[in-house]
Amino acid sequence: MSRAFTGRQLSRTLHALCEQGARLLPCGHCGQKPSRACTDAGGVDGYHLARFAAARRRGLITAAEMDAVLDAAEVITNGTIVRDSAR
Ligand SMILES: [Zn+2]
Repeated sequence: MSRAFTGRQLSRTLHALCEQGARLLPCGHCGQKPSRACTDAGGVDGYHLARFAAARRRGLITAAEMDAVLDAAEVITNGTIVRDSAR
């Protein structure tokens, strides 16, 4: 059902939250620049949870969307890498 029929905003995918939230900001955990992915010690690319927290503080993602990001994380710390599901 489209937004026009429900009058509600459709939820964004994890990929959209990475692109429209975390990716727009520098990383407060590792210092990575905006538009570049973070990398963990094992070489896995994604976005540190700290970037999503900053995106939430700046209003780039909603509280419900932050809940979805936390659900995607296996462990919750600032250093947790959230992998973009579309990559
Ligand atoms: Zn980072």
